[in-house]
Amino acid sequence: MEFNVGDIVRTKKEHPCGSKLWELTRIGVDFKLKCLGCGHIVTMERQKALKAITKNVTNETNQNAN
Ligand SMILES: [Zn+2]
Repeated sequence: MEFNVGDIVRTKKEHPCGSKLWELTRIGVDFKLKCLGCGHIVTMERQKALKAITKNVTNETNQNAN
């Protein structure tokens, strides 16, 4: 899976707010993910983030939005 800043991804576990969708706001040694449900931002080690992310849904969400 390839990722770019601004991509929307789905994770295995849902955030306590109920959302499973996150926006990637930073990609590097650590990944920063912003919850699309509540706006909460988490920082994850790259390896953890790669395990947690199940799907890059950027294209799917773009079709629905706008
Ligand atoms: Zn949330």
